[in-house]
Amino acid sequence: MASSNSKIIFIFFILISVFTPQTFSQSDYSSCESQIHNTCNNKSKALTLKIIAIVSILLTSMIGVCLPLVTRSISALSPDRNVFVIVKAFAAGIILGTGFMHVLPDSFEMLLSNCLKENPWHKFPFTGFVAMLSAIVTLAIDSMATSLYSKKHNNARVQVQNIINGTSDQELGNMVNNNMHFHSHRHGSLLKDGTKLLRYRVIAMVLELGIIVHSIVIGISLGSSNNTCTIKGLVAALCFHQMFEGMGLGGCILQAEYKMLKKAAMAFFFSVTTPFGIALGIALSNTYQENSPRALITVGLLNASSAGLLIYMALVDLLAADFMGDKLQGSIKLQIKAFIAVLLGAGGMSLMAKWA
Ligand SMILES: [Zn+2]
Repeated sequence: MASSNSKIIFIFFILISVFTPQTFSQSDYSSCESQIHNTCNNKSKALTLKIIAIVSILLTSMIGVCLPLVTRSISALSPDRNVFVIVKAFAAGIILGTGFMHVLPDSFEMLLSNCLKENPWHKFPFTGFVAMLSAIVTLAIDSMATSLYSKKHNNARVQVQNIINGTSDQELGNMVNNNMHFHSHRHGSLLKDGTKLLRYRVIAMVLELGIIVHSIVIGISLGSSNNTCTIKGLVAALCFHQMFEGMGLGGCILQAEYKMLKKAAMAFFFSVTTPFGIALGIALSNTYQENSPRALITVGLLNASSAGLLIYMALVDLLAADFMGDKLQGSIKLQIKAFIAVLLGAGGMSLMAKWA
């Protein structure tokens, strides 16, 4: 389990490094490299605001990511687990909103910036291309990891079941195959529990990585800015932003059923990313140029690949898996509630796109 997770993360990082361009052309667009000077620029006052931002964003991120985990412990007391499904739908809506409304538009804006050369950046829609590739790669990793795991762990169980049922090998073979392809739709099967839990864990891990890219980038842009007029509003916006995204991620960590320590580690890791980005932005504020071609290309391509990943995961692994599952298919009433939860999550995230 642990080794297959780390393998997937490793592959993900290789992909990122492949997507990251090795050479950057020197720019002669001087307007893109100078910071705009106005009366709002005040370095020492901005630093105070940034320190306030680090503390408040850390706290709100923790509250957000822990909220779904706490919901679980309350609803676990009652036999009614519908709350759990609705919390998950809400979380999936947030992840979908993050992909479509935050990460993807950011990437378009960066890669179509006037500070980049006309050729090739304005000749080809790189954002769409990289996002599409990233979605396909996520699908490939998703399906291969699942089938490798299923093969490895279920030979023994199939043999046991074979003896119990007395069914032929042919039939069982078909059944195993079907479950690999429609694992999330078929219930009460041999493979379901192990495979499903593994998928939930992979989803939680990969989502955390996909969200982290966006969280660090917005942190850096806050940390490297000295414009006190915009920072004030940005701090409030980012607090809500991280709290919301934390709820989305928390919902996915929740269904992965990790042990307490791992849950805490993932929640902590998410909570420190934006504060870390702000600190990094402060440290780099003298050298980092948000509009330099180097920064635009690197961050733009990273954003495009995490957009593809987030959109694929939200639609396929989170929404389709739940909505086509037995629990929601069995009740129209619950489906409507879950749809409302999805709309609230995606809507909230869309509203926040105005600020961060
Ligand atoms: Zn955002």
